[in-house]
Amino acid sequence: MDFRAAKLLIKADCIKIIKGNSVTNSIEHTDIVVIGAGFSGLYAVHRLRKDYAVICVEAGDGVGGTWYWNRYPGARVDIESVEYSYSFDKTLEQEWSWPEYFSAQPDLERYANHVADRFDLRKDIRLSTIVTRMTFDATIDRWNVHTSDGKHIICKYVVAATGSLSAANTPPWPGRETFKGQILHTTEWPREGIDFSGKRVGQIGTGSTGIQAAPIIAREAAHLTIFQRTPAFSMPSGNRPMDAEHEQDWKANYPARRQEMLSNYGVSLMTRPERSAHEYTPEEQRAILEKGWTSKSAFQLMLAFNDVMTDKAANDIVAEFAREKIRGIVKDPVTAELLCPKTYPIGGKRLCNDAGYYEMYNRDNVSLVDVATAPIVAFTEKGLRTADAEYELDIIITATGFDAVTGAMARIAIEGVNGQTLADKWANGPTTHLGFMVAGFPNLFMVHGPMTPGAQAQMITTGEWQVDFIGRIIDDMEQGGLSRIDATVEAEQRWADEVQSVSQFTIHRFADSWYNGKNIDGKKGGFMIYVGGFPRFAELCEEAIQANYEGFLRS
Ligand SMILES: Cc1cc2nc3c(=O)[nH]c(=O)nc-3n(C[C@H](O)[C@H](O)[C@H](O)COP(=O)(O)OP(=O)(O)OC[C@H]3O[C@@H](n4cnc5c(N)ncnc54)[C@H](O)[C@@H]3O)c2cc1C
Repeated sequence: MDFRAAKLLIKADCIKIIKGNSVTNSIEHTDIVVIGAGFSGLYAVHRLRKDYAVICVEAGDGVGGTWYWNRYPGARVDIESVEYSYSFDKTLEQEWSWPEYFSAQPDLERYANHVADRFDLRKDIRLSTIVTRMTFDATIDRWNVHTSDGKHIICKYVVAATGSLSAANTPPWPGRETFKGQILHTTEWPREGIDFSGKRVGQIGTGSTGIQAAPIIAREAAHLTIFQRTPAFSMPSGNRPMDAEHEQDWKANYPARRQEMLSNYGVSLMTRPERSAHEYTPEEQRAILEKGWTSKSAFQLMLAFNDVMTDKAANDIVAEFAREKIRGIVKDPVTAELLCPKTYPIGGKRLCNDAGYYEMYNRDNVSLVDVATAPIVAFTEKGLRTADAEYELDIIITATGFDAVTGAMARIAIEGVNGQTLADKWANGPTTHLGFMVAGFPNLFMVHGPMTPGAQAQMITTGEWQVDFIGRIIDDMEQGGLSRIDATVEAEQRWADEVQSVSQFTIHRFADSWYNGKNIDGKKGGFMIYVGGFPRFAELCEEAIQANYEGFLRS
């Protein structure tokens, strides 16, 4: 059956399958299933629905993805909201106002809901529903998509907008069920919030999330104990109320600014340096770094010199400056030293942004526990036990991040051609062609998939770009009367080589992080993020299409 005939069938409503004397769940037919209603999935529904029938399936009971799930205190973006927003609709750009420079979770969730209503997306989104299993039927080039509510959908294409930071990384220690208090994960935070007053709170994890949450919790709790495995580098976020002039300037210049963003890292507000750290005297270096620290532009410190991310010696200068700042703020020298990262370069893991994180350690009700030297071994009835002590707590917050990049896809049982499962295919780490497709899993596209620039670029704008790119591939398929698109194993290997080789030019190679899966014990694979820059990534994608779909097999 050709695609258009299938569409007629869809419009003719769903087909009831009768097995023997019983009626099983109805099977629905559609053109495209989009998984996830975060910013990528919402835009995918809008873009693809123009020409195709689309069903979007979302696990949460609301839209917004990251900004639906992460309701922990202090959750906010570290990219300015005038940039971290959709570009696909000029009226939307003009009508929306961000109250702050770096928006907090409630405003981002409000924006996602506004977009869903404004573009009437909800009618094609099924909330509180999880895609649990998918099998590819190679005889008809269709995916069978199974969902947690027992539904079975047959579609030609699947667009997995499942998020690269959406699968919670839950700590493995035993005894969880014995703890008498409450355990919370920051990405599964209750909508009604948590009352910390009078409580002894333990927070495990000091990455971006832990750094945002802790200062707010410390203000409410009786005591906050922070369990730190690896200290993070963080700089002041510079968040402030939006000023009308800044907003108007952006609204007047959006088309040009969006272009600039795509030729950069999805951002345009950072000043790009032209000179190496080694071209300055120590006094000049210091002056530039001080300016970066107070720039109110989240990542400016990484752009103090043009070689911070590529030259270890240049990076050391910036890292030592950041350590001096920590020592200057935190009064207790032992705590200050514990907070100083010394085992990896600054920027090797994504630089964090904070509002009073280091200052918080000067409070009497906050203590820092080093679990690198005495690791956590168990939850207990009363709290947490480390290798050398037990800590009594009322609430334990696990700010332990994500099974990043691959986690959400790995949690779906996916079977491609010849019965191969994605779990087997990725057993030693993910493989993809250009981050979009996996060989042996035809007609399945990923947004922000493994080996795309991911968090190395602003993810709304670059997500829109990826959805448009997938849309173009689908359009080409349909206009060419084609039925199946797959990637070749050779193309996957070439892309893996490209991803690993560019990572060797950057200081990222010196850091264990979620970029290379090293945040999780035993997770296999190499570099999962393309650090060659978004413009180069987009150029390579474009070149592959222009070269008659190089690295793809279409039939
Ligand atoms: C705390 C935090 C702060 C961040 N700050 C920034 C920032 O400042 N700048 C930036 O560029 N990026 C930031 N990010 C990254 C952020 O994830 C992206 O910017 C963006 O929101 C990703 O959108 P998405 O739609 O691709 O994925 P997500 O927002 O993660 O959405 C994926 C959706 O898919 C759903 N899903 C997954 N699997 C299934 C399934 N099997 N069935 C049904 N539904 C499923 C999930 O429930 C989720 O709602 C941040 C991430 C976090 C966690």
